[in-house]
Amino acid sequence: MSELAKLTVAEARDALRAGDVTSVDLTEACLGAIETAGALNAFVHKTPEIALEQARAADARIAAGDAPALCGIPMGIKDLFCTKGVPSQAASRILEGFTPEYESTVTSQLFEAGAVMLGKLNMDEFAMGSSNETSCYGNAVNPWRRGNDTAALTPGGSSGGSAAAVAADLCLAATGTDTGGSIRQPAAFAGITGIKPTYGRCSRWGIVAFASSLDQAGPMTKDVRDAAIVLQAMCGHDPKDSTSADLPVPDFEALLTGDIRGKVIGIPREYRMDGMNDEIAALWDTGARMLAEAGAKITDISLPHTKYALPAYYVIAPAEASSNLARYDGVRYGHRAALSRGEGINDMYEKTRAEGFGAEVQRRVMVGTYVLSAGFYDAYYNRARKVRTLIKRDFEEAFAAGVDAILTPATPSAAFGLGEMQEADPVQMYLNDVFTVTVNLAGLPGVSVPAGLDRQGLPLGLQLIGRPWEEGDLLNTAYALERAAGFSQKPAQWW
Ligand code: GLN
Repeated sequence: MSELAKLTVAEARDALRAGDVTSVDLTEACLGAIETAGALNAFVHKTPEIALEQARAADARIAAGDAPALCGIPMGIKDLFCTKGVPSQAASRILEGFTPEYESTVTSQLFEAGAVMLGKLNMDEFAMGSSNETSCYGNAVNPWRRGNDTAALTPGGSSGGSAAAVAADLCLAATGTDTGGSIRQPAAFAGITGIKPTYGRCSRWGIVAFASSLDQAGPMTKDVRDAAIVLQAMCGHDPKDSTSADLPVPDFEALLTGDIRGKVIGIPREYRMDGMNDEIAALWDTGARMLAEAGAKITDISLPHTKYALPAYYVIAPAEASSNLARYDGVRYGHRAALSRGEGINDMYEKTRAEGFGAEVQRRVMVGTYVLSAGFYDAYYNRARKVRTLIKRDFEEAFAAGVDAILTPATPSAAFGLGEMQEADPVQMYLNDVFTVTVNLAGLPGVSVPAGLDRQGLPLGLQLIGRPWEEGDLLNTAYALERAAGFSQKPAQWW
């Protein structure tokens, strides 16, 4: 039975259409796998009744000859997506008890395409973090371990529950969101594929906002083909999100030919950081060689403002977050602090926010409020916005010079130990995003593809960055890289 949970979306879709398996079988296999995987703490709200009802409906649809791409496919949904009638907490205490009256556009599109929801997935609180350790549910755990060492490793963040669930075959695919790397970094840490599409490809409506000018949803999947299939269902124009693009959505899967002959792949010299991990550097070179062998032309490029990306991101993202999170006041949603006699409305706000927000979220709200305050606005926020424009321009110049995609490492290291960064300066944690935040600042599509194992047996990912709106071409390059790298390892089951 649990073998069914190991299928890819494409394999399951084909088996469903051929009548070799039912969605109820697939769903029960995933529900069974989830039951035995409590140690991974990936699913934080399980919805087995909804799943089985959707699975039965999908089976009826398939029997009637109406089987859209995701019909009957069991998926996990990141807790950041509002799902009607199902707790949607963004892994925060402040949203305890919040059950939306509405469905996010992305999840409603997935359900229209026939997807089955198994439950909600763990994440960092309000998507702020790189290790899943800021979650109010406690951290998710990476199914991968260092050889025979039993130390628990982070699945990355913020979409850590999504990464753990897909890597451990608890679901066939999952949704993630990415503001500075939260799809690509956990995908790399867990040996799976994750794509953040161009800003505006997926509607943000009904997704709890972190930094609205950076946030994008995307799929986390077992391979590149599945990323193409799931992304197709997730994206498209939505009049309810004014930043959503009114552009046609191509058939991404049909574009996966694996033929990248003549494509120009840029290798940005500024990403070769001082003291770079030697295994990551070697994997990056191997990736470039594999793309060259597949017929691409490899060229050195310069993205000169790269070193300013992380500081600019950690001004812009907290600034937007401090504004977005002002709505959690104890009145409109979730948690409200108990008051003593004589305490007024300001006490209620203060106590509610102090109790409801974790330490990292409080830090971001304070930093964000500071950089937006009169007197500092020009020095920090406006300067960061100017840097953002320069970073975007670096990419535009590279693409204008004929580059089709840019190859970089996805992360500066493999998955690290849970608790390992506890004593560290928060900036140490922020350094995880060094290769990914540029892509959000520039609004570009970026995909992480698992490309090898390090000496300790942990997966490492490579990132490809594409031209805006060219997710199809980007996924095809990722597909060529995936085929050349031949990564097929799975974590040994210990949970
Ligand atoms: N790790 C980054 C942060 O903490 C990115 C998070 C994200 O992409 N949601 O802000």
